[in-house]
Amino acid sequence: MRGGETVLVTGGSGYIGGWCVASLLQRGYVVRTTVRDLSKEAAVRAALGKVTDPGNRLSFYAANLTADAGWDAAAEGCDYVLHVASPLGVSDPKDPNDLIVPAREGARRAVGAAIKAGVKRVVLTSSVAATSKGTLACDWTSDETVWTDPKDPKVSVYAQSKTLAERAAWDLIHGSATDTTLATVNPALVLGPVTSHDFSESVQVVERLLSGRAPGIPRLGFNVVDVRDVADLHIRAMTDPHAAGERFIAAANYAWMWDIAELLRANLGAAAAKVPTRKVPDFVIRLAGLFDKDLGSVTPSLGHKHDYASEKAQRMLGWKPRPLQETILDCASSLIGIGAV
Ligand code: NAP
Repeated sequence: MRGGETVLVTGGSGYIGGWCVASLLQRGYVVRTTVRDLSKEAAVRAALGKVTDPGNRLSFYAANLTADAGWDAAAEGCDYVLHVASPLGVSDPKDPNDLIVPAREGARRAVGAAIKAGVKRVVLTSSVAATSKGTLACDWTSDETVWTDPKDPKVSVYAQSKTLAERAAWDLIHGSATDTTLATVNPALVLGPVTSHDFSESVQVVERLLSGRAPGIPRLGFNVVDVRDVADLHIRAMTDPHAAGERFIAAANYAWMWDIAELLRANLGAAAAKVPTRKVPDFVIRLAGLFDKDLGSVTPSLGHKHDYASEKAQRMLGWKPRPLQETILDCASSLIGIGAV
């Protein structure tokens, strides 16, 4: 428990941001969090209250990734900043700048304010989307040495936004005469318990299976990581002297969607009654992908394992991600518990 030090977490209203705030409070830190609109404070406090009692150690600041106002005041006097806030986007928006501008300019604003405040370290939440190899139609394993090419036309707008935001943060740190250091955490697909109905788009993987919204199961897979382990890795990257200047992939077990569906069916009884039992043949997805741009973008990945290695975080920072079953079942139980499925 490291009491007394103050940490700013951007985006405390989000899934990962909320769990970072909760984990820091549980470890004795004083926490500030930014939200776009202070009217969200009550909802964020209610969600956090399901995990921990913040007492008088939590305060809220208004700041938008797309505007200068609020960032300096939020960071001033802090020991550390976790810059988590960034828009998620499973589908490509019509205008790529809808995702790219808030991600990249927001990273510049948050990291810039952290440097101005002289914090010891900023941890930026990037993504495995910023560490991907170009070719989708084959199996591969990637690690922190790999950078996604944001100019590759096959790269999604979300992946571009995360790559450009992470690059902007490194450029700012390397180009400044500052003692503030930077580390990044690059999570894979984040699942695990939700505390409110306002959950991240990533949780839809489990929510769609449980609610029967997925007509069948395509041959797609992901590295899954638990939101509680992602928060833990942010705190390790924040405090470990060896983490300065490093990227850390947060990925645990690789799972095909079929494996996730089977886990739900095997453990949840009647609550898993709507989980599809049919596999969708690749040619059906390919055909549908001709008419649906989002589906079309995943068809090259069908049946291929794109794996992300997290040995670096485990070896350097002693990070230990939990088993897939615990993550999936806790995610499912929490969705059932709040009546979301
Ligand atoms: P989330 O629940 O949707 O949270 C996103 C957060 O960003 C929210 O707090 C949101 O605030 C904030 N935000 C978005 N646009 C903003 C803006 N213009 N100004 C200020 N705040 C803004 O998503 P999440 O899964 O927790 O994602 C958090 C971070 O993790 C992101 O950087 C994301 O790229 C990264 N990540 C997520 C996953 C995953 O599987 N979930 C995987 C890899 C990386 P509002 O509440 O006001 O909307």
